[in-house]
Amino acid sequence: MKITEVKVKRTEDKKNERLRAFCTITIDGDFVIRDLKIIEGAKGTFVAMPSRKLVDRCPSCGGKNHLRAKYCNDCGAKLADNRAERDEQGRAKLHADIAHPINSRCREELQRVVLGAYKEDLEHAREPVYRPPESEYEVERPEPSEAEEKEEKEEEKDNAFGQGIFS
Ligand SMILES: [Zn+2]
Repeated sequence: MKITEVKVKRTEDKKNERLRAFCTITIDGDFVIRDLKIIEGAKGTFVAMPSRKLVDRCPSCGGKNHLRAKYCNDCGAKLADNRAERDEQGRAKLHADIAHPINSRCREELQRVVLGAYKEDLEHAREPVYRPPESEYEVERPEPSEAEEKEEKEEEKDNAFGQGIFS
């Protein structure tokens, strides 16, 4: 698998300060995956694959609810606490990846390419933007007189006419 393009969109989410950017990758010039996330973790920056929130069914009405929901969205029944499965580290499993690598070789390659593109994007952001030096004296342009304005309009008309003939 070759990642042929990475698009990075940096973000400043006040509610989720660890989220640094969204990425879209293209595989082999043929297949696009959106909504990868660049996250600043305790052990460094990493790529999170696109994911969806897991849901389960309300025992009373069968309605779907997110695993953290305390009451059913449909019938309002009180739902049990801690319905999420836990991983080996004991963290609640609330999301499932929509698309993801299935071996470490692919995962490492994906991280390398996507994080590389993210770092490059950051470097570009740091490059100073060129601004022409501001003139020390503000030069005020006089308003064009009525005669001048009329002349300009005539000229425009002539040009339009000319173009009409030659194009
Ligand atoms: Zn319900």
